[in-house]
Amino acid sequence: MAIKKLLIANRGEIALRIHRAAHEMGIKTVAVHSTADTEAMHVRLADEAICIGPPPAGESYLNIPNIISAAEISGADAIHPGYGFLSENAQFAEIVELHNIIFVGPKPEHIRTMGDKVEAKRTAGALGLPLVPGSDGAVSEIGEARRIADEIGYPVIIKAASGGGGRGMKVVEDESQLETLMMQAGREAKAAFGDATVYIEKYLGNPRHIEFQVFGDGKGNAIHLGERDCSLQRRHQKVLEEAPSPVLGQEDRERMGGICAKAMADMAYRGAGTIEFLWENGEFYFIEMNTRLQVEHPVTEAITGLDLVREQIRIAEGHPLTLRQEDVQFRGHAIECRINAEDPRTFAPSPGLVKSYHAPGGMHVRVDSGLYAGYRVPPYYDSMIAKLIVYGTTRDGALRRLRRALNEFVIEGMKTTIPLHQALLDDPDFQKGDYTIKWLEEWLARQG
Ligand code: ADP
Repeated sequence: MAIKKLLIANRGEIALRIHRAAHEMGIKTVAVHSTADTEAMHVRLADEAICIGPPPAGESYLNIPNIISAAEISGADAIHPGYGFLSENAQFAEIVELHNIIFVGPKPEHIRTMGDKVEAKRTAGALGLPLVPGSDGAVSEIGEARRIADEIGYPVIIKAASGGGGRGMKVVEDESQLETLMMQAGREAKAAFGDATVYIEKYLGNPRHIEFQVFGDGKGNAIHLGERDCSLQRRHQKVLEEAPSPVLGQEDRERMGGICAKAMADMAYRGAGTIEFLWENGEFYFIEMNTRLQVEHPVTEAITGLDLVREQIRIAEGHPLTLRQEDVQFRGHAIECRINAEDPRTFAPSPGLVKSYHAPGGMHVRVDSGLYAGYRVPPYYDSMIAKLIVYGTTRDGALRRLRRALNEFVIEGMKTTIPLHQALLDDPDFQKGDYTIKWLEEWLARQG
């Protein structure tokens, strides 16, 4: 069924990103926003705007009754949830569909399965994905935890089944800490996610984070669009992403991508998804699957030429996948910098009024951002204010273009992490692509 009017249940750069794809497809858009976002760029550009509540997300961007009401009042026939907020809430997807509104995302049962990391691991294992060694399911009893940790060997990591955003994880160096940290992890998980369930995994010493982009049509066909390397992280949060990974060869890409695509075909997955792995000594270990669009999706767009939001919308309309696996071609190299309104050294949030704004341009430079001069960045939400994505035929070319584009970028009125990215570009290890998930924090510590 053709979508005529799309409600965008999100804010910031991703709301604008979705609006742009919709308008290019001739689809009208409805922005729903909190009182803090009345002046946001996507709210101004959308065909209709409806205020759904006060600044706290719980009362606006997570307010299901108000969002559904806005869809009914505006006559929207589809809802795109973006990332974060309600994007991985299976109940929301169900409610949307119960109202005969198209949910631009996976089937609710798949969101539910993959949202529970214990279930996700079990499912991934059954579908043939390689797993991080660990407990076979949830662990509730200390004796059992000791047995498993002994078997896989220390250090181990205790993770919350409902965890996300890098929260709810405890690294355990040896047996003497196991009981305390396990109790603590359970308590924290309960407080943060309302679910105390935890599980145990081998803690990998120095892996890379490599993830595969997948798409399914919901009817048993699926493809992969290659990988992204997201190893540059601070506190388990991604800072810079690139595609392809500097360490993966064509053979590994095809093998692992093929396993991912087959797994998605077997479960009749619908829409966009990301299968995340840790990669160490040439081996992949599944950690989780995200059943939504990712922040870093533009690097995949740059090297494949496919508009992933358009593809999501087309699949939601019931179209087949645009490309067959053999039509997917990877060309060149892309890098994305997440630019946050933060002090580049202390990472203290720095929201405020944008006094002047100039985005870089030129060949193969893309900026996804809702900023403009005179806009006030609200203090209530995520501090990411822009994404800079560059493309080059080679990785070296992309690095040179990135430096040039960062130097052109002007955001006055607040501190941003642009200087952090500029400094990173000067580092020889980064230039060589020689880094793991530990690297950035060690590098930051060295900068003093
Ligand atoms: P979240 O859903 O909170 O993002 P993930 O399971 O995706 O949690 O893990 C986030 C990050 O935590 C990974 O990118 C990696 O840096 C680190 N991590 C997770 N599991 C392990 C592990 N078994 N060993 C080492 N690091 C891990």
